Amino acid sequence: MNSDETTSQGLDVRAVFGYASDRGLRRDQNEDSLIAADPVFAVADGMGGHEAGEVASSICVRTLGEAPFIGEHLPEVGSADLQLLLREADAGIRDATGGRAGTTLTGAVLVRSDSGRPSWLVFNVGDSRTYRLTNGALEQITVDHSEVQELVNMGQITPDEALIHPRRHVVTRALGTGSDTGADYWLIPVEPGDRLLVCSDGLTGEVSDAQLQQILSSVANPQDACASMVEAALRSGGRDNITVLVVDVEGSLESSVPAAVLPGAAEAQPASGSTD
Ligand code: MN
Repeated sequence: MNSDETTSQGLDVRAVFGYASDRGLRRDQNEDSLIAADPVFAVADGMGGHEAGEVASSICVRTLGEAPFIGEHLPEVGSADLQLLLREADAGIRDATGGRAGTTLTGAVLVRSDSGRPSWLVFNVGDSRTYRLTNGALEQITVDHSEVQELVNMGQITPDEALIHPRRHVVTRALGTGSDTGADYWLIPVEPGDRLLVCSDGLTGEVSDAQLQQILSSVANPQDACASMVEAALRSGGRDNITVLVVDVEGSLESSVPAAVLPGAAEAQPASGSTD
């Protein structure tokens, strides 16, 4: 038996997280929703008005919360599994709101990839965002599905102009409404010390990436970092609902040590094929 293949490396990781959601200063209600239930971390920004947006975003995160792998440590989950859940969320929102309301969705599942590496399975529909702070650098993983992003891609406006463009809130994909509901997926190996930021556009519309990077790299506690980012968005005007979620990966990835010599590593291997 080849223990190199059956023993995963780096199972000794855990997610430590914080989150915050604020109505902001201009909106009557908070239509954002979030889920932070290991291994699923996501933010949904509902749209539709008259509380329909709130219904849409909450159905969306509730559907994720009912996923069979909630509470499982480093499940072997792939984009096809997530796609089924997102389709279910899309159908649930349409049932409840008749297509009048929709929601964005972005976030990540902390999974074990086919190669056994702890990895982020990042997903996105719409213009909420997932970023990663790694070695002090902040990178935006997701690409917005929005009219202004398309204009930026075509070189017609700059990213700075997108921030103040009158149609900056128009998304080109959403769950629960419209015809384009497809998500993008990224599978990213977890690096030691990784910090993930998942947020709605009420944060990124008010606070620059440079300022987010400054907060994320200076405030160690994830909950304090969330509070500090919400505060920054409110100070900048708080024109939209603000939702932030910060996930730190703690523990050792042991990537330089052959997994086969780690005591107990074999026991940490969950039985596979037991989902039916
Ligand atoms: Mn928003």
